[in-house]
Amino acid sequence: MSTETITHDVIIVGAGLAGSWAAMTTSKEGVKDIGVLSKIHPLRSHSGAAQGGIAAAINNIRPVAGTGPRGPLEQIPAGDPTVDSLELHVFDTIKGSDWLGDQDAIEILASDAIDIVYEYEHMGCVFSRTPDGRIAQRRFGGHSVPRACYAADWTGHMLLQTIHEQALRHGVHFYSEWYVLDLIVEENICCGVVAMDILTGEIHTLRAKAVMFGTGGYGRAFKVTTNAHANTGDGVAMAYNAGVPLMDMEFVQFHPTGLYRLGILMTEACRGEGGYLINNKGSRFMENYAPEKMELAPRDLVSRSEQIEINEGRGIGPDGKGIHLDMTHLGREKIEERLPQVLKIAQIFAGVDIIKEPVPIQPTAHYSMGGIPTDVHGQVIADAEGNPVVGFYAAGECACVSVHGANRLGTNSLLEASVFGRRSGYAIAEFIKGGAELHPLPGDPGKHSRQRIERLMDDSIGDKRESTAEIGRELKEMMTNNCGIFRDANGLQSVLNEVKQLQERFQNSRVMDRSHRFNTDMQNALETENLLTFSEVIISGALTRTESRGAHSRTDFPKRDDDNWLKHTIAHKNGDELPILSYKDVNINWEKNPPQERKY
Ligand SMILES: Cc1cc2nc3c(=O)[nH]c(=O)nc-3n(C[C@H](O)[C@H](O)[C@H](O)COP(=O)(O)OP(=O)(O)OC[C@H]3O[C@@H](n4cnc5c(N)ncnc54)[C@H](O)[C@@H]3O)c2cc1C
Repeated sequence: MSTETITHDVIIVGAGLAGSWAAMTTSKEGVKDIGVLSKIHPLRSHSGAAQGGIAAAINNIRPVAGTGPRGPLEQIPAGDPTVDSLELHVFDTIKGSDWLGDQDAIEILASDAIDIVYEYEHMGCVFSRTPDGRIAQRRFGGHSVPRACYAADWTGHMLLQTIHEQALRHGVHFYSEWYVLDLIVEENICCGVVAMDILTGEIHTLRAKAVMFGTGGYGRAFKVTTNAHANTGDGVAMAYNAGVPLMDMEFVQFHPTGLYRLGILMTEACRGEGGYLINNKGSRFMENYAPEKMELAPRDLVSRSEQIEINEGRGIGPDGKGIHLDMTHLGREKIEERLPQVLKIAQIFAGVDIIKEPVPIQPTAHYSMGGIPTDVHGQVIADAEGNPVVGFYAAGECACVSVHGANRLGTNSLLEASVFGRRSGYAIAEFIKGGAELHPLPGDPGKHSRQRIERLMDDSIGDKRESTAEIGRELKEMMTNNCGIFRDANGLQSVLNEVKQLQERFQNSRVMDRSHRFNTDMQNALETENLLTFSEVIISGALTRTESRGAHSRTDFPKRDDDNWLKHTIAHKNGDELPILSYKDVNINWEKNPPQERKY
């Protein structure tokens, strides 16, 4: 494992929407020396798995007058009054966030949305269309009007292909299948990363004037999840280890419709297009929980409602832990046109033909609201006062800006990754053109990574050695059982103790594969270590937050408590001890959007 130092003006880790937008924009702004590292081929980034849509108040579609909240849609004829507005997109997002979202950032999200959707279109993105050729829109949970622009149920795939092509066109250099192990931060200045070329196993130090993370989410800390294998929160773990804080990590979104037992996503567009949720009594139970919005209430509420049905014995399936998602009334034509991927997924993974029968689903870990705290320019902040980590930027799911607060609305995340990826690109270009420098690297920056790898391969401890895979399996099981949709002090305290024990056991764990070339066993072990690192932050935040807000639902503290908890959690690493927690005010426009009770 030789070491070589590579230098770029800008290093971006992650080639999903956030990283690719940042790279393309930086290049368009005239800073050309950019290296993008991705542990998987860029087009396999999880952004490409997104199905349902990207939100923007472009006002192409409205409900047919007098047909109610689930009635048919029609295009808005030119000159007719519109149904959507920036104010409404902002309000829906704030309400969805249970008032924990920062309202200045949400205003930027909504207003940049329109522009970014048209920029995608002008770059050639293949959106689904209205009969007269405008971008079609569909309904989505928690949005008051049809706002989701989509490409059948391949939206993320289309967006990612588009932006990747453009990044290549602008000369961005991609390091495909490079695994980043460490972020180098010295005295609050970021000066590079340490990475492994997965093909050869060689460790390299990469120096840069600016580093940007678009490393995606952390849903793989849970057993049942929609997330790709790559979504192991490496970026948040690396930042935390380097002394950068993490924000609002306790807020993890559970999506209401993952395939039963597997977790694979059946997009919310299934309900957006009119699908029903049915319990074992054949009843559309959402009328008891959200009589107005029904199945299109926000995800936190629908997932909790499903879980209550399951817990009270009204679930389906051999163990009663499923719910039926029924789309049979939508008809073959609509399903084949709007939901072709979902049709295939249900066929292949569940053996169910959704045109003819309901498909069993269950809530599944889906999205990470928390992450690396940034300002609205992607600049990472070092503390609650907002001091910057110089030269370090983040956007997309690994970041917390925070537009989603305690609960994200569907279709706002492809949007966030695009909008704040692009804004990071502008900020990075300005930073470099303003005279940013390469800072000297401290000592031997690759040492820590090399030691981690050598230890995992060291066989001298013989029988004492543990399997890294088994430790990962136990972690995911515990996180799902005790830090899932419903939480309480006892469960959280026990899972916190267990994670601490797993961290200790990990020190005796070893990989089976001792080779250097394409050692996926080693990569899985490094990822498991990252899961163990940030899981304690999720649990510590959840245990301390004695209220229920958005996706964080404490059965022992069932009410939202604005007097004590209308604030963001900031967690700093504290050696091997539990994180040090501090708090940051939420940015609220008290005149326009003061906190209200959240009802649907
Ligand atoms: C199944 C599914 C469906 C979804 N559907 C929608 C939807 O319809 N609408 C919506 O708005 N949102 C949706 N989301 C959420 C949305 O897709 C994501 O939040 C968003 O795409 C994240 O983009 P990103 O650029 O931040 O990260 P990602 O696209 O996840 O990319 C992360 C990148 O980081 C790289 N990386 C990570 N760690 C390392 C490392 N250690 N070294 C090197 N590279 C690394 C990866 O290789 C990858 O390139 C969905 C999510 C899922 C899981």
